[in-house]
Amino acid sequence: MKIVCIGGGPAGLYFAISMKRRDPGHDITIVERDPIGATYGWGVVFWDEMLDVLYCNDPDSAREITEGAVLWQEQDIRVGEETAHFGGYGFSIGRSELLDVLTRRATDLGVHIQHRKQVDDLAEFADADLIVVCDGAGSRLRQLHSAEFGTEVRMGENRYIWLGADKVFEHFTFAFEKTPAGWVWFHAYPSGTGISTCIVECRPQTWVELGFDAMDSTDSVAALEKIFEQALDGHKLIGQSRGEPARWSVFPEVTNESWCHGNVVLAGDAAHTTHFTLGSGTWLAVIDAIVLAQSLYDHPELPAALAAYDEQRRAELRAIQASARASMAWFEHVDRYLDRGAVSLAYAMSIRQGVQTPWRYQRYLAMQHAAVRRVSCALGAVRRFYLAARRGQIALSVGALTGRRGLPARPARDAERPRDRLGAVVSRAVGARGDPAGPIPLSPVAAAMHHRKTPPVGQEWAKTRTNRVD
Ligand SMILES: Cc1cc2nc3c(=O)[nH]c(=O)nc-3n(C[C@H](O)[C@H](O)[C@H](O)COP(=O)(O)OP(=O)(O)OC[C@H]3O[C@@H](n4cnc5c(N)ncnc54)[C@H](O)[C@@H]3O)c2cc1C
Repeated sequence: MKIVCIGGGPAGLYFAISMKRRDPGHDITIVERDPIGATYGWGVVFWDEMLDVLYCNDPDSAREITEGAVLWQEQDIRVGEETAHFGGYGFSIGRSELLDVLTRRATDLGVHIQHRKQVDDLAEFADADLIVVCDGAGSRLRQLHSAEFGTEVRMGENRYIWLGADKVFEHFTFAFEKTPAGWVWFHAYPSGTGISTCIVECRPQTWVELGFDAMDSTDSVAALEKIFEQALDGHKLIGQSRGEPARWSVFPEVTNESWCHGNVVLAGDAAHTTHFTLGSGTWLAVIDAIVLAQSLYDHPELPAALAAYDEQRRAELRAIQASARASMAWFEHVDRYLDRGAVSLAYAMSIRQGVQTPWRYQRYLAMQHAAVRRVSCALGAVRRFYLAARRGQIALSVGALTGRRGLPARPARDAERPRDRLGAVVSRAVGARGDPAGPIPLSPVAAAMHHRKTPPVGQEWAKTRTNRVD
């Protein structure tokens, strides 16, 4: 099959990898407007359940993602001087590191990648059997066919800016600071050697009154360093990653009534966005990529394959986007919780999706004690060990348990793997949940693949086996 992907982000690259894993004979070209190595943004978070999915679909890239990731443990929610705590853990990898891994892997598998080429219409790809439009939230190519896709874009109210910081936050940290113009807050997490990701957000009136509407990136960064002097312990914010200087933005919520039109199909942010407080857009894009590749593998006829992908993923995204909308709206009204103190605010934040399991509040109160958090950390380490062993990451390193940089990097071990491994892994991921106040753990995202009936089993796939303990 001759396939063109417009956009070399996580959706396009991982789709190309997933297709080649199922059938190396596909002729796949990715067209990307940016030069190689240039991208926007900082670290993206993910959870163990996503690693299960990645290891099942392509162990080679999963291993490299694992090696490039950092672990964060516990969550702190600071309101002025007061701090509330949650247990739990997750991982983070720099967006640029992730794209480097995926670009390398796609190239090794024989995918052609053309950088520095912006696509403005699809006419030049008339000879392609399939065109995957994965050019991000502001997709120009989706806009060309917005009537056919039934596109709706609703802008969020809050202003945000995606920055780095030279402070290494060991915990996933929310910090709220009161200014004369209203509250400004960030959430931050470690995302590489010596740096953290730091996303700053505020209400639009606050943003205008603080003069951010008239400042460039450098002045904004300087003003924010002052506001967050205490929370940053005097460390610096960084306004530029590999791409352009960071800019203030508003979040676009993208929905589409149909994800395919003829031989053109949407994937990733071009098809749907989920507010960044869910921390799942990248991995939703990756799951789109896997499901699309699998649909094409399962259905020899292109229209049937696209219809199956469209039906499955759109239905799955409905609930996830509803959660994301609730999360975005919660932060648009966060002022009403901020006079209650950190402990009360943090709990309200943790149930902003409306999920209140039995004993949740009692567990949360217990977590305010350092000794309980230490026990929770130890249990988290055991869980990580078990999950890593189960997915075949042998030679588990001490670092994986202690939270030092890097997850265990291990070669996959040869062992028999049942054909339905991916389906089983995804189903299992559905059951697991973290307890974060911040981003939603990836299980609901992985749940997106819950009803996969059969796994991807291409020839190469069947040869590459990883160990599994169950
Ligand atoms: C502040 C913030 C924090 C986030 N944090 C997280 C997180 O912690 N975890 C997480 O999972 N997700 C996170 N996300 C979401 C994540 O960044 C996106 O969901 C993800 O990048 C989507 O991948 P994609 O491949 O669909 O699109 P993109 O990553 O946007 O890639 C699209 C690519 O297409 C290229 N392109 C665009 N137009 C053209 C054109 N006309 N021709 C050729 N190429 C083109 C672009 O250069 C780009 O490389 C965050 C997002 C934001 C804004």
